[in-house]
Amino acid sequence: MTSQRKTYIIANWKMNFTPGQASLYLHRLSNRVQSSRNLQIVLAPSTISLQPLSLQINRRQFKLCAQNFYWRDFGPYTGETAISQLRGFVDYALVGHSERRYIFGETDKDIRAKVATAIRNDVTPILCIGETALERKNGETKSAITDQLLGGLHDVSDEDLRKVIIAYEPVWAISSNKHAKPAKPADIAEAEMLIRKQIARLYGQTTADAIPILYGGSVNASTAAGYLDIPGIDGLLIGDASLVADSFCSIIESAKGIIDER
Ligand code: PEP
Repeated sequence: MTSQRKTYIIANWKMNFTPGQASLYLHRLSNRVQSSRNLQIVLAPSTISLQPLSLQINRRQFKLCAQNFYWRDFGPYTGETAISQLRGFVDYALVGHSERRYIFGETDKDIRAKVATAIRNDVTPILCIGETALERKNGETKSAITDQLLGGLHDVSDEDLRKVIIAYEPVWAISSNKHAKPAKPADIAEAEMLIRKQIARLYGQTTADAIPILYGGSVNASTAAGYLDIPGIDGLLIGDASLVADSFCSIIESAKGIIDER
């Protein structure tokens, strides 16, 4: 990890926990996790839990993240939630998660509109990008990552790019994938370098050096430290392992240990 950037540990609870269960979990975490200056711990519960958790949360200890939102600010969009409705509750929002791309058919056009809408509403978008198993097999990893990155950032100005976080999440490594296998540090390092190179080409080296790049995909308590040690990786996006307080707390401890060693 590069010393001047913060470290992010982000829990994506996906479609798990009722608001009551989420509240109980937050209560448990609050008692176990100390806030730390260079570490940002972020929780992404279901939309229904955002408002109650925002009342319960100590914002110096944790921040909240939306898992999803619609890119329009208001209007006749039955069943949707606008980021303008969530902005008081969340500091971050996931955009382009592979489950949104491949289960719900979100396109690069939807994703770029969401990135721009989040920034306009003072919410930091966490743009998730990553190749599928087939793209990797066909030697299309670099073009898949580049296309998703440039597609998502299409409408983002130099100044606004500083409000964006990128999460590299190879789809084949995400635990919800039937044949998921953990990514190798060398593959992650290569993707991180490609992402920073593309950002430097478009926005300049200083901006590329400043943007946080996270990794996500089957991270657990025993593998977290190894992933956090990859140069240029600024944190982790965690699905399955964030659902159990013990494993999520161990991951946070690993991150603290690495920050302290710097
Ligand atoms: C995710 O879906 O963003 C993710 C990283 O999930 P998991 O940790 O379960 O692979």
